[in-house]
Amino acid sequence: MATREKKYVYTFGMGKAEGSADMKELLGGKGANLAEMCRLGLPVPSGLTITTECCVEYFARGMKYPKALKSQVEKAMAKIERDMGMGFGDPKNPLLVSCRSGARKSMPGMMETVLNIGLCSRTIPGLVERTRNERFVYDAYRRLITMYADVVMEKAEGIEPAEGEGIRAKLERIMDDLKKKKGYAFDTDLTTDDLKYLCAAYRKCIFDTLGRQFPDDAEEQLWGGIAAVFKSWNGKRAVAYRNIEGIPHDWGTAVNVQAMVFGNMGENSATGVAFTRNPATGEAKFFGEWLVNAQGEDVVAGIRTPAPLNEATKTDANRSMVSLEKAMPAIYRQLVSIRNRLERHYRDMQDIEFTIQEGKLYMLQTRVGKRTGTAALNMAMDMLAEKLIDEKTAVTRVSPNQLDELLHPIVDPAAEKKVKPVARGLPAGPGGASGQIVFTAAEAVDLARQGRKVILVREETNPEDVEGMRAAVGILTARGGMTSHAALVARGWGKCCVVGASDIHADPKAGVMAAGGREFRRGDMITLNGTKGLVYGEVLPLVDSTENPRFVKFMALVDKHRKLGVRANADTPEDAKAARRFGAEGIGLFRTEHMFYGKGSDQPLFLLRKMILSRTAEERRKALDELFPFMKNDIKATLEAMEGLPVTIRLLDPPLHEFVPQGEEKQKALAESLGISIEDVRKRGEELHEANPMMGHRGVRLGITYPEIAEAQFRAIFEAAGEIIKSGKKCRPEIMIPVTCDVRELKHQKAICDRVYREVCDRLRLKEIPYLYGTMIEIPRAALLADRMAEEAEFFSFGTNDLTQMTFGFSRDDTGSFLPGYLSAKIVAADPFQTLDTEGVGQLVRYGVERGRSVRRDLKVGICGEQGGDPASVAFCHKVGMNYVSCSPYRVPIARLAAAQAAISASKK
Ligand code: PEP
Ligand code: MG
Repeated sequence: MATREKKYVYTFGMGKAEGSADMKELLGGKGANLAEMCRLGLPVPSGLTITTECCVEYFARGMKYPKALKSQVEKAMAKIERDMGMGFGDPKNPLLVSCRSGARKSMPGMMETVLNIGLCSRTIPGLVERTRNERFVYDAYRRLITMYADVVMEKAEGIEPAEGEGIRAKLERIMDDLKKKKGYAFDTDLTTDDLKYLCAAYRKCIFDTLGRQFPDDAEEQLWGGIAAVFKSWNGKRAVAYRNIEGIPHDWGTAVNVQAMVFGNMGENSATGVAFTRNPATGEAKFFGEWLVNAQGEDVVAGIRTPAPLNEATKTDANRSMVSLEKAMPAIYRQLVSIRNRLERHYRDMQDIEFTIQEGKLYMLQTRVGKRTGTAALNMAMDMLAEKLIDEKTAVTRVSPNQLDELLHPIVDPAAEKKVKPVARGLPAGPGGASGQIVFTAAEAVDLARQGRKVILVREETNPEDVEGMRAAVGILTARGGMTSHAALVARGWGKCCVVGASDIHADPKAGVMAAGGREFRRGDMITLNGTKGLVYGEVLPLVDSTENPRFVKFMALVDKHRKLGVRANADTPEDAKAARRFGAEGIGLFRTEHMFYGKGSDQPLFLLRKMILSRTAEERRKALDELFPFMKNDIKATLEAMEGLPVTIRLLDPPLHEFVPQGEEKQKALAESLGISIEDVRKRGEELHEANPMMGHRGVRLGITYPEIAEAQFRAIFEAAGEIIKSGKKCRPEIMIPVTCDVRELKHQKAICDRVYREVCDRLRLKEIPYLYGTMIEIPRAALLADRMAEEAEFFSFGTNDLTQMTFGFSRDDTGSFLPGYLSAKIVAADPFQTLDTEGVGQLVRYGVERGRSVRRDLKVGICGEQGGDPASVAFCHKVGMNYVSCSPYRVPIARLAAAQAAISASKK
């Protein structure tokens, strides 16, 4: 029996479809949503989708199609022909098709498209006859030739000409020369004869440049288009974009072949792109752009600046343009009702593309629209109020990265009032940014690598610039609309971006930009206000943007749905206050040694040095006595700032070598204070030298060799806490022993702790000082023996900085020399010091939690390594049942959101 042939092709059209919106993995986002729109009965031109699976097979077979594909495409094409009542390659009534990519996740502008496939000498006369519009036919033909030569004959063949020497540029030069010769200002001035001349000249130029004829056959064009779309999955731009976005390279793209409809058939034809709500601000107003008598590529390529869709969303920059609402009111009303239908169906903001052919509206795309962090927040809260979505969905609608963007700065409104902008454009990506002007993507990448802030200035938007856009703090273009690819990409990344600032003129060759009657050179500083679309010729101060009251409401919703606690790593009372402002529920790591760094640290640092250079216990005790008030005050101030919330105080964990005095003057002062010679100070310092200090005499090891150091710290903690309690306030210290590998270390230190505790309670006449005694788990041995550790420890805090260092054997201070290579060779998926390695280190964490709780059921477990603020790592911490994560104060809101999303996603399973 013949095995059933694999299905590579799915059709849609005439209110029916073989696919649906939930088949994105197989049909790509575009294909799945075209199918869904057909099912909804919306006007969609018929078409077919070739699956992503077919693309994967195509590459696996060394760029050969699976056998069954040809007959399946032919069958589907016959259906499209029937639906449309036209024939592909038919001389009398020719059907033209488009060929577009469509990956599982949208990659705007990163892959290729060919339009008007099917135009050739056999079909041109028939189309002229049917449309009675010879000019339109030759205009479509010259567009096909341009796109086909660029996409199929050059890019897909792997030809990489020098900048400005590509076939598209050459063909565009031929057109520009003709326009100049004839004195035309616009493409629309070209006559039929001009276009005929151009088509012939184009074909000759293609043959002369590429050594091959432009194919004069509909079938050949179709298969050339399909192959080129597949190949564009591995095009440079697409690969770079996937690397940045973390999209897997083995997904492949689908191909959509769809009957063409034309927005360029005259004044009653048009094309446009719209968002069901404003993607920059989130405002619940239908928002979009359109161009009369144009094909879709004209809008998204940013070549012509399009007009606004309606009156309500006009801005100062486009007020004089005619809206679709005014120009074609009936069509606009139909579009509004489709907008409402789509939002109700998808329950999310949609990004749609449409074409109007001689007064009839067609839908060409719908997908969930990319949006800024501000817009994501506003839409989530609005849609919740409109009862379009529930609370859990609202919480998942803002990504942790978008929240990060919300916490980012805006231009200080007070400073902004005092200056005048040098240019105005469209507010394409929010927030403020100041930086040096650069004119190419390469320069942007270069300077950003040197740590400079740059603003990428381009004449028009161009998806080839993706890496430069990523590297820049802001993007400014002279042309292009809100829906141009640059705007989409910038918005997706939450980057400050102003587009279509038509009053600037950039000349990259000369390295100058003219704006507001001034001339700016490469390297000059400017400021962008991406929320308003303004450009300033100077540096303006930026301020925090968290004053949005909706942010506060949203975060309350977030807290309602999360189970994991969120604390902060904070070492000073100021940090502690910031942590509370960001919603921390305690301090998960208070590194006591940080009192020896930075402001006000001179005296305690001097005393610490004195202590570590001491030879005898007596000397050491004396130094400790002097140091004691500093330690106690530091701890007390932080406990007070947290007003009764738990504070995990870690005993000293200083790599000793960092504290050895180096300068002559300091050594002299210490010698005097210790009553020894300067030589002795040097000698004692040298004795502290370690080959591998990160694994040396640090953490608990210090407390074991010098019990008096541990004793002083326990005393400082209990006295600080006791005094707070005596003053009638609350505090909850949690004492944490670092760098442990055996329960005997914990027992050794606990004996000292118990003794000091009793002494302090007696002295202060307190019955008790509530506290917890616990340990960090940051050495693999401690994780493996977690059950024993839990006999003594009332809590664990996973120190995943050291745990990662010791599990990988990667020195945490020296990864710069090899980790980038590991990342680009994909040996590790992410930097394990930023995102927890769930496969390896994660196993130790999971095992540690389980073993620990097997002995002590109520063992409190947290994480305080850097990964505690990373959303993916937070999700893992939720999964293994931790009680809390702890991260830097500024990441606390992100961790709160990530924790809520992890809880919601677990509740759905
Ligand atoms: C850790 O090791 O993860 C940790 C938090 O401690 P430190 O970074 O201070 O070594
Ligand atoms: Mg550590």
